[in-house]
Amino acid sequence: METTNIKAFGTEAAEAPLDQLNISRRKPTPHDVEIDILFCGVCHSDLHTARSEWGPSMYPCVPGHEIVGKVVSVGNHVSKFKVGDVVGVGCMVDSCRECEYCKEGLEQYCEPGMTGTYNAPDNHLPGNPTFGGYAESIVVDENYVLRIPENLDLAATAPLLCAGITTYSPLHHWKVSPGQKVGIVGIGGLGHMGIKIAKAMGATVVAFTTSESKFAEAQRLGADEVVLSKDPEQMAKYQGKLHFILDAVSAEHDINTYLGLLRVDGSLVLVGAPEQPLPVGAFSLIPKRRSFAGSMIGGIAETQDMLDFCGEHNITADIEMIDIQNINDAYERLLKGDVKYRFVIDMASLKG
Ligand code: NAP
Ligand code: ZN
Ligand code: ZN
Repeated sequence: METTNIKAFGTEAAEAPLDQLNISRRKPTPHDVEIDILFCGVCHSDLHTARSEWGPSMYPCVPGHEIVGKVVSVGNHVSKFKVGDVVGVGCMVDSCRECEYCKEGLEQYCEPGMTGTYNAPDNHLPGNPTFGGYAESIVVDENYVLRIPENLDLAATAPLLCAGITTYSPLHHWKVSPGQKVGIVGIGGLGHMGIKIAKAMGATVVAFTTSESKFAEAQRLGADEVVLSKDPEQMAKYQGKLHFILDAVSAEHDINTYLGLLRVDGSLVLVGAPEQPLPVGAFSLIPKRRSFAGSMIGGIAETQDMLDFCGEHNITADIEMIDIQNINDAYERLLKGDVKYRFVIDMASLKG
């Protein structure tokens, strides 16, 4: 397989900071789209993976799965995209396409396993991991590339590719709708998108935050009510009141407190992925026939639906643009919950 060397930013080890490195990408095959990356969002999963927090990662590790860029070349069998198109790539760049889940458009749950945009074995370059969007360019099969609505700001659209779909998918699957009271827990990259999307779906949105500095702002983002989750008095008011809760917290926290806020038949869906298990008490679930579930990103068609939905409702992320050279500081700030609400890397800083 022919390859090209390009500039990227990544790390050689869990304990090492991210730095500039050179990586090889395959030259586009007949079904591939080659994308010049303009912007890449910084997901907390990038940090979990770069630091091997979910188990040993493959190194070198080049994170980044909220990619927006411009098509610079297409293979001769590509029919969906042409040179100059503005496109997106999210958390997955391939899947088996044959299992029952792939056939249903649930490629994220592919039985042999989807191919992650980074930190997955690269089927095209055996022995190598896939490399993500902290790079000048990426080559992706056209079936895993998304169209970006024309009316949206490109940098602020990048986070939709992970934070957007990861919150849209469960809100849509659990049929969040007008008349329902929906809690969003953890107002970071995912959580702030959850507020905007749940609001656009017509729900009454209650934001739960540990950060006093986000209290007023959660309302600006669209929350009808905001709760400081550290204050037991404020929490008590919501006992048994919520139809649905989306939990987007990246660290250990008491899940039982939130389960207690669900009504009969209510569901709490975890999208946050803390390193450690979260203990669940039987009596947090039994008395009100509550459900506790998880959800992972979304399928390709569903991701396109989410982008189109955000286009219609004019929804993008609230971002802070950074140069790639500041990525290690950005990770430290992410750990402190000090980002409003998503870092996006201006990839010109890598190319310049
Ligand atoms: P983020 O921007 O860092 O947001 C996480 C938020 O969680 C923080 O802003 C903070 O919100 C809250 N938080 C952090 N530490 C906390 C603690 N010790 N106790 C209580 N609350 C705390 O992260 P993100 O990018 O949105 O990602 C969130 C999680 O989702 C990560 O674990 C990530 O890996 C995971 N994820 C999962 C999927 C999936 O497919 N399921 C996809 C993408 C990401 P407040 O300041 O409001 O309290
Ligand atoms: Zn992500
Ligand atoms: Zn499959």
